[in-house]
Amino acid sequence: MSSDCIFCKIIKGEAPADFVYKDEDLVVFRNIRPSAPVHVLVVPVEHIESINALEEKHSSIIAKMILKARDIAKQLGIADSGYKLVTNVGWGGGQRVFHLHIHLIGGWGKSI
Ligand code: AMP
Ligand code: ZN
Repeated sequence: MSSDCIFCKIIKGEAPADFVYKDEDLVVFRNIRPSAPVHVLVVPVEHIESINALEEKHSSIIAKMILKARDIAKQLGIADSGYKLVTNVGWGGGQRVFHLHIHLIGGWGKSI
């Protein structure tokens, strides 16, 4: 946990979020500034800064995040129309919250 990290605060219940799913390993909540009709964030409970900070021991949580993103896409009705999974890495890669997350983005319909 990192005390000045907004996603750690959300996970600890110290900041609000619109949760779609949570368990002991990961949480999924709606993006406060969505860039598409569906835009949720898949976030590990462990404070990992980015893909750059991943270690071998994180293999299972990364797999779990991707599978959960797939399940949530289905739950939110965008599995068939299609969606993007995006992970920004580092400031130059567009990352602004330095707690690893996958953006699940979709809901435009059959074409964009
Ligand atoms: P990134 O630029 O990849 O680091 O993405 C961070 C994302 O977190 C942005 O799309 C923000 O809109 C989103 N975000 C930041 N603060 C919050 C918050 N308190 N609740 C939900 N989403 C947030
Ligand atoms: Zn954090």
